[in-house]
Amino acid sequence: MHDQTLAIHAGYEKDAMGTMAVPIYQTTAYEFRDTEHAANLFALKELGNIYTRLMNPTSDVFEKRFAALEGGEAAIATASGMAAIFYAIANVAEAGDNIIVAKQVYGGTTTLTGHTLKRFGIKTHYFNVNNPSEIEALIDEKTKIIIFESITNPSIDVADFEAIVDIAKKHNIMTCVDNTVATPILCKPFEYGVDIVVHSTSKYTTGQGLALGGILVERKGLVDMIKGNARYSHFNEPDDSYHGLVYSDLPLPLFTLRVRLSLMRDLGATPAPFNSWLHIQGLETLPLRMKQHSSSALTIAEFLEAHPKVSKVNYPGLKSSSHYTLAQKYFKNGMASGLLSFEVADKETAQKIADSTDIFAVVVNIGDSKSIITHPASTTHQQLSENELIEAGVPAGLVRLSVGLEDTQDLIDDLTKALG
Ligand SMILES: *Cc1c(COP(=O)(O)O)cnc(C)c1O
Repeated sequence: MHDQTLAIHAGYEKDAMGTMAVPIYQTTAYEFRDTEHAANLFALKELGNIYTRLMNPTSDVFEKRFAALEGGEAAIATASGMAAIFYAIANVAEAGDNIIVAKQVYGGTTTLTGHTLKRFGIKTHYFNVNNPSEIEALIDEKTKIIIFESITNPSIDVADFEAIVDIAKKHNIMTCVDNTVATPILCKPFEYGVDIVVHSTSKYTTGQGLALGGILVERKGLVDMIKGNARYSHFNEPDDSYHGLVYSDLPLPLFTLRVRLSLMRDLGATPAPFNSWLHIQGLETLPLRMKQHSSSALTIAEFLEAHPKVSKVNYPGLKSSSHYTLAQKYFKNGMASGLLSFEVADKETAQKIADSTDIFAVVVNIGDSKSIITHPASTTHQQLSENELIEAGVPAGLVRLSVGLEDTQDLIDDLTKALG
């Protein structure tokens, strides 16, 4: 089936009421038939609902629908995108291990890997996403996962999946893509051999800036890569916290199952059923919205490129972009999502533009139906020096746009006025 159909129907079987909309199962716990039933569920002899920290029927529909859209085996929803990224790492790495992460990633991923995980004894090596050949020298026997973004936020680069996955496969290391900006509508990382996909569903998935959320999806057949792989011995050895369960013995999607049974059990970044329900509503229109975000962003990028006050436009859908070829290769119909950035003379000019728009709002979010303008040098990247800003690909005169779903001409008129 096609994405537009999956986005509306996948993962939902109507109950006896015939309810068309997915119900919100607003409950903490579930009644067992008897104590034997309860014992069987705890021992995984039967699968079923135990407690909402571990699973919930509304979240279950969202998870199945998202897994179907990504073409994956199974998914687990989390309370936020950062929780999904942390679980992807914590499911494979422990103190003494290391991970390899692209330099061009979301700010929260940089601080998680560079600071918080360091305190847990997990070391992070960084590589330039535009130069995957840097990865090989960083790998050793303690390397557990390679993480990058399909379209990077905020630098708006496009990752060369195949180049990165080739190196990972040579060393039997898992790869994990943060597909938040591209969404499964534009890009399906599993088709290029990626093992794990994570998202902040707070962005394009919810689509109207309504709810925080994250999701972690595993590819079909990941079990074959984990089974007997010395890098992932904890999947192949008895888990003392689950009375000696050996994950790789189970005929189930191992990666997400272990996140659920172990990390969700112990850390509990569970989504609220209501937020999962909001995400289900978002998914229904995601294919339509991504087309509109992408076409509007392309028109605006072309307008900005022709504007005398703009020295550079970063948008992978533009023919002049150094990422155009990769965008054509990896993204459906070359659609490149709704994020773009452009450079003007200096910090003052950039701030004046951001302060002069009426429709574009000054907000640190992306993927909303409402257009957003950000000046990274004075907000998200404020603590960096002039040199560090250039290193991070964020010059002082850079303005970032998240193009929403308003009329494209109204957005261009707004920018024309703000550019002066
Ligand atoms: C927003 C974002 C995150 C973090 O997600 P939250 O839902 O805010 O926790 C991670 N990765 C990318 C690419 C993001 O844009």
